[in-house]
Amino acid sequence: MALQSWKIGDATVTKIVDMIEPFSASRAYPDADLSEFDKHRDWLTPYFYDPAQKAIILSFHSYLVRSGKHTILIDTCIGDHKSRSPMLPTWHLREGPWLNNLAQAGVQPEQVNYVMCTHLHADHVGWNTKLENGRWVPTFPNARYVLHRKELESVQARLGQDGYNSPSYVDSVLPVIESRQADLVDTDHEFLKGVHVCQTPGHSPGHYCVEIKSQKAHAVMSGDLIHNAVQIARPDWITVFCGDKQAAVAQRTKFIDQHTDQDITLFAGHFGGPTAGRIASRKGGGRFFKVNP
Ligand SMILES: [Zn+2]
Repeated sequence: MALQSWKIGDATVTKIVDMIEPFSASRAYPDADLSEFDKHRDWLTPYFYDPAQKAIILSFHSYLVRSGKHTILIDTCIGDHKSRSPMLPTWHLREGPWLNNLAQAGVQPEQVNYVMCTHLHADHVGWNTKLENGRWVPTFPNARYVLHRKELESVQARLGQDGYNSPSYVDSVLPVIESRQADLVDTDHEFLKGVHVCQTPGHSPGHYCVEIKSQKAHAVMSGDLIHNAVQIARPDWITVFCGDKQAAVAQRTKFIDQHTDQDITLFAGHFGGPTAGRIASRKGGGRFFKVNP
């Protein structure tokens, strides 16, 4: 599969895909009126919604950002060889194309300087580590791993009680702490020149977005603030994936309000297909996701 890349000023953003799969829309949005998908069919199909299966299309990908002397990965997907819940059969003991896709982008793991985890759910930390001689070791030996303090503390406090995120903490987060490669953040700030951490708690307690500003161009990697493009039109829709559901709605609504009709490229954590676009208002009211030309 050809890689997709975008220029944001002097920075280059490349999408590194791990997996793309349909997910039942009624499971994702149990309280929502799904006829809404038909209302927005003109811009949701074929990349964000499959009407035949009544499924949202969930893409699991990282964003590789090359800016100046920095090589940054934002989120690391599901990962290989990880033992996962039987509820997640496509994630369990997976062997995917992610590392090859990274190599196709011209990057070897040793070259990555920073790994920024928008949050610590299992589908965002998987490639933090790899299996080597029966042990989980950091995939990126020269990288600093940027984790939110509150996110880390909340996962640690629920160890053993969270069937989804406790195993991934043990095999994908703990090893980078033990190798002393973790840097904790807990404020909004310019983390590197042109790379900003913006806290957006709700989906998870320490969720953050990453903003890239280069020349006059501006982009934001929104992690799991918005799971599917339909939520651009319906930020009030609650997903089954969110922890504090009311906070997630409030955070998403605020973000969408602030980013509507702005010259800011949105790179969401799970949007499939063309992926990059803008939040635009619609004639006659409402908003939609306008894919970048
Ligand atoms: Zn996710």
